[in-house]
Amino acid sequence: MDARTMKAMRLEAVGSIALRQVDKPIPGADDLLVRIEACGVCGTDRHLFHGEFPCRPPVTPGHEFSGIIEAIGNAVSGFAVGDRVTGDPNIACGRCPHCHAGRVNLCRNLNAIGIHRDGGFAEYVVLPQKQAFILPTDLPPTHGAFCEPLGCCLHGVDLAEIRPGSSVIVLGGGVIGLLTVQLARLAGATTIILSTRQASRRALAEELGATATVDPTAGDVIDAVAGPAGLMPGGVDVVFECAGVRDTVEQSMRLARAGGTVVIVGVTPQGMRAEFEPFDLLFRELKVVGSFLNPYTHRRAAELIASGAIEIDRLISRQVPLEEAADVIANPPAPGEVKVLVVPGRP
Ligand code: NAP
Ligand code: ZN
Repeated sequence: MDARTMKAMRLEAVGSIALRQVDKPIPGADDLLVRIEACGVCGTDRHLFHGEFPCRPPVTPGHEFSGIIEAIGNAVSGFAVGDRVTGDPNIACGRCPHCHAGRVNLCRNLNAIGIHRDGGFAEYVVLPQKQAFILPTDLPPTHGAFCEPLGCCLHGVDLAEIRPGSSVIVLGGGVIGLLTVQLARLAGATTIILSTRQASRRALAEELGATATVDPTAGDVIDAVAGPAGLMPGGVDVVFECAGVRDTVEQSMRLARAGGTVVIVGVTPQGMRAEFEPFDLLFRELKVVGSFLNPYTHRRAAELIASGAIEIDRLISRQVPLEEAADVIANPPAPGEVKVLVVPGRP
């Protein structure tokens, strides 16, 4: 194989994704060339494939990646060839009113690696040095791929202002919910309930620190949690909506105790509407906040993952080579699956 080319999974148009041999990218002065060790498949990749999330094909998707630096631009400092790095894919412009206000996740000109420019479903990615964070070289090479989703969960947990002894419910047991359960435990919550339909995920959540789980198909979640005979009569301090469906959004307002906080992390389809009672919001002084992306949390996510404080291995359902990435992205997740990692070079 020509050393100037590489394999990349190209989204060529909505509904069209294929493995291609492309030019190996050349890092600019401020860039690192990173050899991908692992890149996670996220629901957003599936949305890009189906045209449900704006992007500009042709592009190489993949925004949850980490790898080893193979080359550096001549203005790079603080990184060396051979370092392991994780990339924060969300590049803010630094010049718009939101960036100037420190709200970089709301940047008007957000340029995300793996969405607007080529990402990690490839052998190599170009990573601007300001988006790169060092990981230990003795870390399992798959763990760095979890920094981006963990950074998004950290933002949600920061907004929730959990205190030692807080009670929490997480709605939705995908990777975001299961990482949020772990962060809630680290933040000092002592009651951590997870609601998700699949039994295997409820069992996993209990191993990862959930103190109780609820099957939303088995009965009324509000009764089971906030009812007089529920797990937390009157409701919980903090609700994390991590499923992105109407049912859980509507439940979330009713699961919070008076004075409680609801954090909306799940991405609902645009245009979807949910019902709530404004009187209830007022009378019980609920705080409802949206949590979008990972502003200034990637470094902490990398440090948490490097510390081993987050259980990662049990969240990895499958590792597939680049050759199989298109199939994974074009199809819905298999039952029980939590995170699929694309590992270039894996046989
Ligand atoms: P995911 O794997 O799809 O997890 C969501 C899970 O919610 C589903 O797998 C499903 O698991 C569960 N669910 C569905 N209906 C439910 C119900 N009625 N009650 C309880 N659980 C229900 O996705 P993910 O990767 O964990 O991401 C979760 C959400 O966060 C997605 O909407 C994603 O787009 C969003 N997200 C947001 C950010 C951000 O910055 N805010 C970042 C990343 C992801 P069961 O089949 O077990 O019920
Ligand atoms: Zn900006």
